Parts: sequence; C-alpha cells; structure tokens
Amino acid sequence: MSHSANHVVPERGAVIAASRAAYGPGADAALDCDAVIIGAGVSGLYQLYRLRELGLKVRVFEAGSGVGGTWYWNRYPGARFDSESWTYGYSFSQELLEEWDWQEHFAAQPETERYLNYVADRFDLRRDIQFNSRVSAAHYREETRSWDVFLEDGRCCSTRFLITAVGVLSAATMPRIPGIEAFQGQSCHTHYWPKQPVDFTGKRVAVIGTGATGVQTITEVAKTAGHLTVFQRTPQWCAPLHNARITREEMRRIRANYPEIFARCQETFGCFIHATDPRGTFEVTPEEREAFWEKLYSEPGFGIWMGNFRDILTDRAANRLISDFLARKIRQRVKDPAIAEKLIPKNHGFGTRRVPLESGYYEVYNQPNVRLVDINETPIERIVPTGIKTSAAVYEFDIIIYATGFDAITGAFDRIDIRGADGVSLKQKWQNGPQTFLGILVDGFPNLMMVMGPHAGLGNFPRAAEYSADWVTRLVRFARERGLTRIAATAQGAAAWTEHVIAASEGLLFTEVDSWMTGINRNVEGKQVRRIMRYSGGHPKFRERCEAVVDGGYRELSLA
Ligand code: NAP
Repeated sequence: MSHSANHVVPERGAVIAASRAAYGPGADAALDCDAVIIGAGVSGLYQLYRLRELGLKVRVFEAGSGVGGTWYWNRYPGARFDSESWTYGYSFSQELLEEWDWQEHFAAQPETERYLNYVADRFDLRRDIQFNSRVSAAHYREETRSWDVFLEDGRCCSTRFLITAVGVLSAATMPRIPGIEAFQGQSCHTHYWPKQPVDFTGKRVAVIGTGATGVQTITEVAKTAGHLTVFQRTPQWCAPLHNARITREEMRRIRANYPEIFARCQETFGCFIHATDPRGTFEVTPEEREAFWEKLYSEPGFGIWMGNFRDILTDRAANRLISDFLARKIRQRVKDPAIAEKLIPKNHGFGTRRVPLESGYYEVYNQPNVRLVDINETPIERIVPTGIKTSAAVYEFDIIIYATGFDAITGAFDRIDIRGADGVSLKQKWQNGPQTFLGILVDGFPNLMMVMGPHAGLGNFPRAAEYSADWVTRLVRFARERGLTRIAATAQGAAAWTEHVIAASEGLLFTEVDSWMTGINRNVEGKQVRRIMRYSGGHPKFRERCEAVVDGGYRELSLA
C-alpha cells in the first residue's frame, strides 16, 4: 500500500509513440511469433494451451509479474468469486479435474490464484509468457499481413495473429475527486491491492464505493478496523452467498459429477448451474412466491438472480415485487431503520445491476465501529491530507480504500493503441459503442481476435472463455490448413451482429440503468452514455450463432 498519492494507481507510463519508424530500435526478433496473446489470465492461459497444440509459436505478454489476471491483481480483503468453484475451473483436462481439490464452494482470491498457477505449471505454460510486459500499442501492417506489437518498455515484435485476452474488468478507475494526491495516509484502489497483508487493527479506514468489490471489502475490513466509514453513492441489491468449505466426500461427489455439471452450465443462460425458472412471477400464488423466494435467499450462489422467475428482469411489476422482497430482508437485517433505508436502492430494481453476493454485509452496519455516509446527501468535496471532506464534515482517516470499479469491457482495449488496416484506432471505431462480429472479430482489424471481447456473452467467465478460445483456435487452424494469412470480419457481418446484440437486449430492464454493464463510468471521459456492451441472448444462442458460422465454412468472413 502506498504512502504517496503518486502510487495510488501505479503509473503505467504514457503510451509509447508507436509508429513503424519506432519499430526498428526496439525490435526483438526473438519475440516474433505466429500469435501474440495479450494477458495471462483465465482466457489467455487457456488460449495459449490451445494454440500451442496447433504447433504455433505463441508469445503471451502479461503486465503482471505472475499469471492469473483478475486473480493476480485483485487481492483486496474478502476478494472471492460468486461462481461455484467447481463450475469455475477449466473443463478441458480430465487430469486437471482429477488432480485439483477445491477447498471452498466459492473460492477466495488466494485459492483461485493458486489454481491458475497450478494450471500454468501443470501444462508448462510459463515458458511462453513474458511477465512485466504491458502492451501499449499494436498496429496492423498490410504488406506482411501481420501485427507490430509494442510494449511499454520499448520492446516490440511482429506476429501474424493478435489475440486479446485482456479481461472484462481489468482497467481500474479512480474517482475524479480533487485532492487525492494530497492524502498523507495510506490509500489504494482495490484492484492494485499490495501483495503483503494490510493490518487494519485500530486504524480509521474509509471505503469509497459499494459495488461487488466494496461489499466484500467492507465486510472483511469491518472485522478488524478500529473504525470504518463507508461512502456510498448508490446502494446495491445484495443477496447472501452462503459459502462453505467443501468436505472430502463432497469433492468426491463433485468430481464424479463433473460431466453433468459442465453439461448443465452449457444449457443455462449465463453458464452458471442456475437456470431460470420457467414460471412467471404472477403465475403462482403469493404464498408460493414468497416460499420460492425464501428458498432462493437461503441457498448458495446466484440462484436468486439467475434461477428466479423468468420475468423478474423484464416485467416491471415482477421486478418491483422481488425488489420489495429484498428490501424487507435488508430492513430485517439492519437494526437502525434510517440506515436500512439508505441501504435500499431506490433508483434501480433488483438484478438490473450485477448482484453482489455477500457474507454478513448488512450486519456490518449494526456494528458500533461502522458508519455509513450517504454522499448523495453530503457529497464528497475533496480528499484532504488527513482524510475526506464532505459538504457536512471532515472525516479523518489512516487508510482510504477506493473500491470505485472499472472502465469495463472496452476500457482495457482503449488503453492500448490498436490500429487496423486503414490506420483507424479501435478506440475511435468504438467511440459510439462497440461493433464486433460475434464479440470475437472486428471489421477493419484483420487477424485480430478477442477472447471475451465486447458483445460476447458474459456470465460464468471460464465457461464462456473456454468456448471463445476454442472458437478462435478452430478459426486459426482453418486458416493455417488452407494457407490463409488474412482473416477479417466483413462490415456487413459486424453490422448484422451488432444489430442482433442490440435487438437481444430490448425489453431487458438492465438497459435502463447506469452501471458498468451499460458502459457507464462517470470517472471516464466519453463513458457517460448508456450503450449495449454485451450479448444478452444467453450462451446457448450465442454458441448456436457461432457454430453456424463455422458450419457455413466461415463464408461470412473475408479470408485471403
Ligand atoms: P462497480 O460495481 O462499478 O462499483 C464501483 C462503486 O464505486 C460503485 O458503488 C460506484 O458508485 C462507486 N463510485 C465510483 N466512482 C465514484 C465516485 N467518484 N464517488 C463515489 N463513489 C464512486 O465496481 P466493482 O465493485 O469493482 O465491481 C465491478 C464488477 O466486478 C462486479 O459487478 C462484478 O462483476 C465483478 N466483481 C465480482 C466479484 C465476485 O465475483 N464476487 C467481486 C468483485 C467484483 P455508483 O454505483 O453510484 O456509480
């Protein structure tokens, strides 16, 4: 954790002035390869494994000093995923499934990071990964049908295929609050949490932000902090995670059931084990409804979001009812009625933002050492050397934690100067929203492929990423077998997919709400207008469409 505001977000350095002229001096022929993958997280590791199987010379550039991506960076207190661990692990290797025992139903960051390191070692992946290597630019070169890839440290190389595995939530953003530099205590964005443990005992701690990250951080920090103040702009509809350790017997059963578990994930909308209930909210009696919701609230994981009545995310009246149910739960759990009211969202319904799963979050506000500041009532004016000044008071702190989120989905792309065939930058091309073909290809950017790019289906990340990486692998194999050296989406293909993505989101209540899922980040210039950022038709339909392209011999692509 830093003591100086300069380190609040590690300085990444300005994007190097990458041009073909600059390619000479830093060129490292040893780095030249058939495919460059950007990122050694969940998708990058798997993509490397698959492309290596094709016999390609592959190079992964990873900004961190270790593998894991999300699970390398986000070491903040309480970090864990909301997917059942045994649905989150890779499914591609029977040996791996035999060897790895998950310790908890919802693994915390250290366990997931250990797992991804195990995978990297098990499949000898490290030898093709360049760590501490942040890609700053990538320019397509028509003469050679290849990409020049530039690293922040000045090195560069050339590759036929450029594959991004940059994640969806990897470009962290600090709030635009004046004075951040002036704070004299310790401060950190949750994404850049230090590797060494931070001791909160007896400390006065502030957390700004109450998304899924803030909720986990607050719950954990409140256990030991001398005093914790939460600065909340928008409350969230949180539901219980109900995590537990996995016994040996349970792990044995899980292992025996892996084929059924993965098959079920393939059938559901978001690749989780939770499938939407086919009933409508108003097709059951009020008593049945209440009993169903009580059951979902008492069960582990995303059932209450993903396994609920089919209309709660489309029908306003249904959404109102489930929101009222959640509001009653908050009022039951938080003792002070005035604080409970502040914790109940008023500007969006349940499930229209990503639901944070929690483990005692609401009870934190019953603790004498925790205070909630609603910054809609008393806005933060600035960070001062001793703490945070709102319109009502100056609060003094030893530690300020920024749980202020990400420039999601396109942010990691925007931070790389990616230029396609006509020299246009991807950032420019996407300034009014992403346009892709299947969330994998972009017209005008030949030989660029995105694993989990914008307009791909989101959900249980590794399940979706494995499919995307397999699709990319099949396309690369197809090209290699036929001696094709230029693969591109067509403008018509990209327009049709983009239209389909927009149509698939029509009628979904989430599109009417500001959140990272609709491309809003008030801390980033140009991200104030809601956009359709992801495919909302569900994974089975997504795969169906992707398979149709393969079955049609990739006729929808421009291949040469
Ligand atoms: P987030 O959901 O975008 O939340 C950011 C929070 O910071 C929001 O409460 C936001 O308020 C607040 N904020 C931002 N700028 C602010 C400012 N200038 N002043 C005051 N408050 C400000 O980000 P996140 O919590 O990091 O989560 C992002 C996503 O990562 C999640 O939705 C989830 O998909 C993933 N995630 C998953 C897990 C898990 O699996 N359990 C855990 C953590 C994260 P507003 O809402 O008003 O903008």
